[in-house]
Amino acid sequence: MDNIAHWLGGMALTGRPDLFFLVFIFSNFPDILSAPFFFYYAIKEKFPIKKKVLFEWKPPREYLEYYRFFHSILGTLLITSVFNVFFPQYTKVFLLCYISHIILDMFSHGGFWATRIFYPFSDFHLGFTKNHWEHKLTRRTIFIALLIININILIRHKIF
Ligand SMILES: [Zn+2]
Repeated sequence: MDNIAHWLGGMALTGRPDLFFLVFIFSNFPDILSAPFFFYYAIKEKFPIKKKVLFEWKPPREYLEYYRFFHSILGTLLITSVFNVFFPQYTKVFLLCYISHIILDMFSHGGFWATRIFYPFSDFHLGFTKNHWEHKLTRRTIFIALLIININILIRHKIF
């Protein structure tokens, strides 16, 4: 999903509206880590860096390996362990945000973009999911669900 959906996903799982900025960063972390590789391989293949066409890019195997690692359970554990060394006070929030990202991507990516949580040990992924940028129903359903959960959290925290 996009950055805003991941932010809402992180908010939904952590229930910490007070840490909204950190939750935004943490819940986008798998994509932040993938981004340098994304641009490296897209530029290497001379693919135009424009939002409109980027989704049509067929990434090379090497890029998919980085992407899948950052979107896997193994990646979650390793990245969270490194995070814990520097910011132990936020490890729990970080882990929940990271997990929320992977859960959302499991249901909003399909085909070779599908999230392989057991990478590199297994190719397991959901077979019925579709890419959210190609499938409006997927994007809308997830967005509405996230909005309802977040409004509920804000009401519970008496923010409105
Ligand atoms: Zn992602």
